[in-house]
Amino acid sequence: MAVSRSVRRGLAALAVLVTVPALTTPAGAQEPTPPGGTGDAAYRDAGLPGRSGDVSASGRLAAAGENRPVGQQAGYPRQTDLREFPENPDDKAIKLGLTPYHDIAPQLNELQQRSDRVSAEVVGQSTQGRDLYLVTLTAPESPAEAARQARWRELIEDDPTAAAENERLAREYKAPVWINANIHGDEWEGTDGALDVIDRLATSDDPADAALLESTRIYLTVTNNPDGRVAGTRANAAGFDVNRDHLTSTQPESRAVRDVLIETQPLVMIDEHGYTGTTLIEPGTPPHGRDYEYDLYIKHAYENALGMERAIGKLGYDETARADIPFRDFEPGEWDDWPPIFTPMYSIYHGAVGHTVEVPLRVNREEYEQLPVEELQRRSRINRDVAAATITSAVEYAEEHRGELLADQIETFRRGWAGEPQRDIPDEYVPGFGEEDRYSVEFPRAYVIPAGDGQRSAPAAARLVDHLVAHDVRVSRAEHTFHLGGEKYRKGSYVVDMHQPKRGLANAMLSAGQDISGDVPRMYDISGWSLGLLWGATVDVATDEAPAVRTTPVAAAGPTGSLPPSPNADLALTLTDGADVQAATYLLDRGVEVTRDEDGTLVVPASARSEAATAADRFGVTFTRAGKDSSGTPVAAPVIAAAASADELAVLRGLGFDVRPVSTAVLNDGFDFDGVSALVVSTGLDHDALTADAKRRVRAFLDEGGGVVARGAGGAAFNEAAGLLPVTAVEGRGDANGVVSVTDGEGDVLDRAPGHSFVYAPLWFTGLGESVTAEQRYARDPLVSGHWRAGENAGGPAEAAGEASVVSGVTDGGTRAVLFGTEPMFRDHPKGLYAQVADAVFWAS
Ligand SMILES: [Zn+2]
Repeated sequence: MAVSRSVRRGLAALAVLVTVPALTTPAGAQEPTPPGGTGDAAYRDAGLPGRSGDVSASGRLAAAGENRPVGQQAGYPRQTDLREFPENPDDKAIKLGLTPYHDIAPQLNELQQRSDRVSAEVVGQSTQGRDLYLVTLTAPESPAEAARQARWRELIEDDPTAAAENERLAREYKAPVWINANIHGDEWEGTDGALDVIDRLATSDDPADAALLESTRIYLTVTNNPDGRVAGTRANAAGFDVNRDHLTSTQPESRAVRDVLIETQPLVMIDEHGYTGTTLIEPGTPPHGRDYEYDLYIKHAYENALGMERAIGKLGYDETARADIPFRDFEPGEWDDWPPIFTPMYSIYHGAVGHTVEVPLRVNREEYEQLPVEELQRRSRINRDVAAATITSAVEYAEEHRGELLADQIETFRRGWAGEPQRDIPDEYVPGFGEEDRYSVEFPRAYVIPAGDGQRSAPAAARLVDHLVAHDVRVSRAEHTFHLGGEKYRKGSYVVDMHQPKRGLANAMLSAGQDISGDVPRMYDISGWSLGLLWGATVDVATDEAPAVRTTPVAAAGPTGSLPPSPNADLALTLTDGADVQAATYLLDRGVEVTRDEDGTLVVPASARSEAATAADRFGVTFTRAGKDSSGTPVAAPVIAAAASADELAVLRGLGFDVRPVSTAVLNDGFDFDGVSALVVSTGLDHDALTADAKRRVRAFLDEGGGVVARGAGGAAFNEAAGLLPVTAVEGRGDANGVVSVTDGEGDVLDRAPGHSFVYAPLWFTGLGESVTAEQRYARDPLVSGHWRAGENAGGPAEAAGEASVVSGVTDGGTRAVLFGTEPMFRDHPKGLYAQVADAVFWAS
């Protein structure tokens, strides 16, 4: 995950990376058409049915790819004739002497012909449609042996007490190890090291290797980000950092490896990255994820890291004499394992001992452009050897400690089912373990997600439930009405019983989180998140008592859309959730004459009932009967010019808006505002750097009634430079982030916004001129979870308390503007905040 902190959003800046729906063709490459497609359909395919269904491990993995060589009863090898991609001379790996993407399938095809230890499958497609390969290294297995392994794997999770007592399982269960490589596209060598390991083990006649493959199954996703590999970018082709996406699963690359992880249930996993100068091997520094069974993790993670360090030392390069092990060598907060957004941290919740490994020698970015090819290739050879050595060492650790690793994975799931507390860990449990390493949580007994007819947040509840199920969190549905904690819940409400094997992940996702500002001076990446508070669904916590109601397991949330019965009534749609916005843009795109009431409610004429029925069905939204005296103003489908980051563009497009990416350069190039109704500004647009002509066009757009929605420091700077709203924007510390409590302001643009929001580099507005209204304010004690300290010239939560987080106003010239100090679209994560963005867009347009 090595990256300068300035890339803290984990996203490519817009100006250089305006991308791209699926299937953009890189120069020189003839892209094949992806068979599975990407986006929502793939999400559904990948996520459902969940583990509560009866699809076996092999069945689900095979179903994710195009090639389906295996039935559920297949043994090993499971060999697939992988389709080969056209040679691309522009593949960025070539200059480094590494394997270009188009060579991977031919190599794997050839290896499968040579060796019955090698199986290759396709487990998904990248954003641009390249195949994602899973290679399995194992000694041949009969269908019966493979089926037994699959049953045991399920037993370990479903009934760990029985698994712990099963002597044959203890003897014969093959240790699954998972290697993920190249999730950052311009950190190449994990792929090549993995291919070297595959090549060696495929044909090795060393009896030790043969024995290894009798007791171990090694799974390798050889490149998790082939689009980035080819293009030489950290991000995927949509501009997302896949190694920040595991909590949210917005990208096909992260969903594919999530499903590999769930279905293979590795004891150990390695995520191969670069470049940290000195090889870096996790475990990480505090704060440690509080939802882990950390005792079971750290004892293996530390030992395994020491083994990997010895292995790279034996390579004999001066550059690999030692490693940095953050747990041992770094200060708290410098390389923490707190958020479940990184592959290894996310994997811990699925029972794996997860490690990030950073190969040492930089070959990307400036070095890629500037160093002599010979030096680049020398570095890449060393990096490649480091990758192979760490993979081999981790596999050997898993073989050697198979029994204990297996027992500890079983114990992780057993504690979950039993609802036992996490263990107190004594000082020096592993060398250096002390007070600063202690993070823990008291798990609640259950979460309840209310559902039922007419629930306003019904689509949000369904979205959250589907997300949980796709992540192997068990959710059930109440068969009757029940009472809990003084609340009455209707039949059909969802229950997350925390007596379950992956309770840690369930809690990491649903809980409010924790304010860790006082624990460490800074953090590596995000510190606060909460699907429970930010995804729009009501999520209630049952601390001590489980719901006393019969439930049935959920494989998919039930349908939620509805219309009022009377066919001649006009229909009202309230923009409570992003799904409501999607329904609105869907209707507008079809030419339905929608009007907007003063309170923001959209009214759809009865004559468009059939289109509304389709929208209700597709997006799960609820239309109600419109009031008789609705006489709103006609709404046009907004057309947005957006100077925004890749995640924000993705959110705006996902809501169904027509989005035209702009930047300083695009405006200076003569961008035509014709037809644009709102300008969204968050990053990449510097008003002062615009040419006189571009400034004139911006001014004309504003004078002709164009609206502005601005976000963050970039948006506030634009507001000031363009002379829009008279406010002073005050910046908090640039790395401060988390979930905040907010209250309603005096305006009515964001009337229905939820009581929590998300911030990164928080901003607030003071000195509001008469024409400016506070739409939303930071609460008295705003930080719910995350890390936000006052800095030298930057206020903390105490300074932001009570101040405006979002403001609106109309300029003298009649321009409507909304300024956000919060981050409602961050990494396409806080799904429950999108409606307020749409409210702002509709109001400003
Ligand atoms: Zn990385």
